[in-house]
Amino acid sequence: MPLTIVKNATCTFCGCVCDDIELHADGIRITETKRACSLGESWFKNHTAEHLYPDALIDGHPATVDDAVEAAADYLLNADMPLVYGMSNITCEAQREAVSLAELVGAVVDSHTSL
Ligand code: SF4
Repeated sequence: MPLTIVKNATCTFCGCVCDDIELHADGIRITETKRACSLGESWFKNHTAEHLYPDALIDGHPATVDDAVEAAADYLLNADMPLVYGMSNITCEAQREAVSLAELVGAVVDSHTSL
């Protein structure tokens, strides 16, 4: 399998957003992470192109993304005290969408750092 090298990759794991990482990938997984710390190396190497899990789950059962979005919307609209939580490993654009959603349904926003 041909080796792909990506220079100046950005790690979004911890929030430091190191953007000078060189990644080597074999088409399925990242095999080398130059200049990433041990956390970043672990994060990159444990994300693969393999399809290990269903696209979505509803109550623990495989579901389509469309059905899962519908179920999530129902949960949020019917929640007494909605919470939008997490967002530690997602992009700024995704965080912006999460906050917009929270404002729409009157939710509280929290991140994993509150732990
Ligand atoms: S490489 Fe390490 S320090 Fe840099 S963003 Fe990733 S986890 Fe954080």
